[in-house]
Amino acid sequence: MNIAVLSGKGGAGKTFVAVNLTMVVPHALYVDADVEEPDGRFFFPADNLEAKDVTVGVPVVDPHLCTGCRKCVDFCRFHALSFINGAVRTFPKLCHACGGCMLVCPEGAITECRKPVGRIRAGRYFDHRLLFGELIPGEQTGVPVIEELLADIGEVEHAIIDCPPGAGCPVTACVQATDYCLVVMEPTRFGVHDFIATERLLKTLGKPYGVILNKSTSASTPGGQYCIDNALPVLARIPYDPAIASIHSEGKLVVEENEAQGHNFIDLRERLQKEVGR
Ligand code: SF4
Ligand code: SF4
Repeated sequence: MNIAVLSGKGGAGKTFVAVNLTMVVPHALYVDADVEEPDGRFFFPADNLEAKDVTVGVPVVDPHLCTGCRKCVDFCRFHALSFINGAVRTFPKLCHACGGCMLVCPEGAITECRKPVGRIRAGRYFDHRLLFGELIPGEQTGVPVIEELLADIGEVEHAIIDCPPGAGCPVTACVQATDYCLVVMEPTRFGVHDFIATERLLKTLGKPYGVILNKSTSASTPGGQYCIDNALPVLARIPYDPAIASIHSEGKLVVEENEAQGHNFIDLRERLQKEVGR
């Protein structure tokens, strides 16, 4: 089973759930796809990580072939090309590497050069394979790094993907590779508001999903009520407990340190196996 762990906003507890769930699924691959703020590494003290760069193709214009028709400039919706002083100028930091300008140039004046946008580190922690994605600060989108992280996900028996927060393109790139989505929600009114944006995306993509209520103070919270009203499966509740927060903030795995949470995550794994059907 390949599980995407999502949240409508940062700080809801997505990484907390992803790293601890990984530990209770034998041989699960952990993928840190939150490439703008990759903090999964703090929980797996793995040495000797192998690193490789992720690159994208950005345009290079041959001034000898360019006739100045400006079709490429008009095409680029990201304003990564401009026509200045009779020549096309490129702004690689703004480029989303869609390749469209190369296709629309009637003169074949645009080729590409490879530019690094991020890095993937790979390692192991006991029986778990680990992949950590990192986006170079200032780059426009984490999607190329995420696509490379998830390229081989179909060949893995179990993978837990720690996704970026929100409901944008990087989240879409993560979710498409998975069987089931686990959305971590803070059960406050704000948490419900952010959850709804993520839920809308998952409905559009036709992905099955369930909820984890994190920092749950009582049975009757706005988040809990939303799940009841909308008949959403709540796969686990994690209590609001300073002892849990303290373990997590020290970079430790709560399933290894807190017996009750160890059982809670094993129950979550069993609920997930039923939801996913394996
Ligand atoms: S590759 Fe796409 S984003 Fe980049 S300059 Fe060309 S059209 Fe713009
Ligand atoms: S589309 Fe090609 S020929 Fe036209 S301005 Fe751009 S690079 Fe030059």
